[in-house]
Amino acid sequence: MDIQEKIEKLRKEIELNSYLYYVEDNPKLEDYEYDKLFRELEALEKEHPDLITPDSPTQRVGGVSEKFEAVAHKNRLYSLENANNEDELKRWYERILKDLDPNVGQMSLFSEVAKAAEDIKIPLACEYKIDGLAIALTYKNGRFVQGLTRGDGFIGEDITNNIKTIKSIPLKLFEPVDVEVRGEIYMPVSSFEKLNKKQEEAGQKTFANPRNAAAGSIRQLDPKITASRDLSIWVYGGIFEGKDAPKTHSGTMKKLKELGFKTNKITVVEGVEGALKCIQKIDETRKDLDFATDGVVIKVDSIHSQNELGFTSRVPKWAIAYKFPPEAVWTKLLRVDFQVGRTGVITPVAILEPVSLAGSVVGRASLYNFDEIKRLDIMEGDRVLVKKAAEIIPKVLKAEKTDDSKPFKMPENCPCCHTPLIEKENEVGLWCPNPECTDILKGKIEYFVSKYAMDIEGFGESIIAQLIDRNMVKSWADLYKLTLFDFMKLDLIKEKSATNLVNALEASKNCKMSKFLNALGIRLVGKESADILCQYFKTIDELKAASLEDLSAIAGIGEKMAKNIYEYFKNEDNLKIIEQGLSLGIKPENTYTISDNLKLKGKSFVITGTLAEFSRDKAQEILKSLGAKTPSAVSKNTDYVIAGENPGSKLDKAKALGITILNEEEFKNMLEN
Ligand code: NAD
Repeated sequence: MDIQEKIEKLRKEIELNSYLYYVEDNPKLEDYEYDKLFRELEALEKEHPDLITPDSPTQRVGGVSEKFEAVAHKNRLYSLENANNEDELKRWYERILKDLDPNVGQMSLFSEVAKAAEDIKIPLACEYKIDGLAIALTYKNGRFVQGLTRGDGFIGEDITNNIKTIKSIPLKLFEPVDVEVRGEIYMPVSSFEKLNKKQEEAGQKTFANPRNAAAGSIRQLDPKITASRDLSIWVYGGIFEGKDAPKTHSGTMKKLKELGFKTNKITVVEGVEGALKCIQKIDETRKDLDFATDGVVIKVDSIHSQNELGFTSRVPKWAIAYKFPPEAVWTKLLRVDFQVGRTGVITPVAILEPVSLAGSVVGRASLYNFDEIKRLDIMEGDRVLVKKAAEIIPKVLKAEKTDDSKPFKMPENCPCCHTPLIEKENEVGLWCPNPECTDILKGKIEYFVSKYAMDIEGFGESIIAQLIDRNMVKSWADLYKLTLFDFMKLDLIKEKSATNLVNALEASKNCKMSKFLNALGIRLVGKESADILCQYFKTIDELKAASLEDLSAIAGIGEKMAKNIYEYFKNEDNLKIIEQGLSLGIKPENTYTISDNLKLKGKSFVITGTLAEFSRDKAQEILKSLGAKTPSAVSKNTDYVIAGENPGSKLDKAKALGITILNEEEFKNMLEN
């Protein structure tokens, strides 16, 4: 293949993957695999500049879909140059010094510049590189007027209505200024994980990573879907005009914060050495962040210098993204094991040839479920790519066949109690149906005592395993029957730890009702849904008496979840265990203030269209705090429909059913009175 053909082939591959990434929000390659192709093309074009064409991916930015109205950007949006290591960052710094300082520029030898670069320290601003979706927001006289995606940098997609649903984006600033703001829309990692779980349960498409989830959520034709996703923004730049415009990037960020924007931490350092130290610090702490970062952006702080340096056809010369190395490695899949979780579902686990990944040695990785195995086409003996991202348990991203690859046998019996496995209607995967399976029980008790649930200290895996294996505990309620003497019978438990365990159990008896509900381990009911239930039902008895219809009408409690809750409280065994727990002293206290005197208690409100002063979530939150229900659909049980701008078909349905319709003003009056 000659060079021209090689370049053409690379361009085609990059274009296809750019389209899948930017337009479809559905990448097929890992970012670093894409970056490798991109860099290969850049290197070839550098060697053969005569072959560069204006439509080459190296000369362009992103892409625009036809889903939204295309609008020209007032100021062009660019991408960023990448540095993958210290050397590349230092070379960028040397280049900017050369361009800025005529004395440095006159030195002919690169090494001389390098030497000079160590001594010349210009202020650089370092900040997180947010892995989200770039947007440009226009404010006129302090009011939000338009939001565009980056698109191809010249033309963006008009997503103004969707932007309005994001609570952290101010619609009105603290000062009546004209400004164009740049930022990154992102989805918190915790929300991304929840969304994927929900999508999976609803049999809908899951997202590859938080970036794709954010891009897919903000580029929805229906703003209601955007509003239902937990999106946020980090603003990282703004274009002010006039003589009062800030003179530095850090000054711009300070001003943006004062205007009411959500800005992230920014550190101004001296020279490239300062930047490297800052990068190291960020790398050490970024694991704890609830947003995805794929690097650190380093920007020349002086706006005057930025203007002097200017742009290439794709990137500003005054900024660079230092990218962290990919947290994925290839290793061998030795075999697939199976384990049974607290719900009885069988989970496949990849047993790997141990490999070092992001600071620890990894020997196991999650395969989630059997659909995932099918999707990845996994066989024992495969070469697998394993990633450790936000999650603690690494996951397998893709598999390649080797000469050793061979299919594995699907399990027929539970790996713990050997009961034949079953499939469940409307559920994915295989299940152990034995309620006495000890691994299921262990999982349930581990969850009950965990810090997410009853938070009972001291109950490690080994203590729980002994209690179950010795038949001392058959349900969580049995824990409360255990005495000091019982605990002292366990291996490696002395009087002091036994006393601590008894005390921890005793202390857990006075608990919040939402914690207790979560601890019961009802399928799909987590902390948030337990909180919601407590806003509707004052006591466990009230919840026990709830009808399926009552439960399904609650906003935030999906149909499947409502069914699980209903069935859980109809099951005699479950009721017996709860009774036992309560009689042994557990006192769940409902700390929510919802009570009979709430003026909207029992009323059902449906919202349609966009409200000017409330996001959909905010309006629902207010209504719920007053005891109202906020289902998403209009039915004969709806009491009020609140109609904002551009209402949907719900308004027609409400009219047909003769339901009272409130406009935003009337809704506000109702709240005030
Ligand atoms: P980029 O993500 O490398 O960097 C540019 C973007 O960074 C800017 O547009 C801006 O939105 C953003 N950014 C985040 N934090 C910032 C901050 N603090 N200051 C300034 N900007 C900040 O560039 P890109 O052109 O959007 O995309 C290239 C990236 O997309 C590459 O990393 C590539 O791996 C990935 N990609 C992947 C695939 C795939 O198939 N996996 C395909 C196309 C692109």
